[in-house]
Amino acid sequence: MKNINAINLCVTYNCNSRCNSCQIWKIKDSPNINISDLNNFLNQKSLKNLKEISITGGEPTLHPEIIEIARIISEVKNVNEIYFTTNGIRTEKIIEILDVLYRSRKNSSGCIS
Ligand code: SF4
Repeated sequence: MKNINAINLCVTYNCNSRCNSCQIWKIKDSPNINISDLNNFLNQKSLKNLKEISITGGEPTLHPEIIEIARIISEVKNVNEIYFTTNGIRTEKIIEILDVLYRSRKNSSGCIS
């Protein structure tokens, strides 16, 4: 298997918007990614050359452990680009997440979509 260098990581399907173009919010009982699964996933051999991670959802700020997820992602060896996509509603949580990502000294950016 070829090495993967970029991933989109959907941390939750929950969303506090109701966009008709997406409708992810209609999915019932969708699980959030858990920390153990995230660590196992990121430790796979095929991700050893991973350079870029995009944190997406649903709305990622609704994951109850999003700060820990941001911290884990910010510490992934070799990753030098981190993107965070949000609908922009939960501004205080967004600032907390971006603070964790920026402190990692990696190229990080937030996108409100
Ligand atoms: S904010 Fe994003 S994830 Fe949420 S319903 Fe709209 S397009 Fe979908």
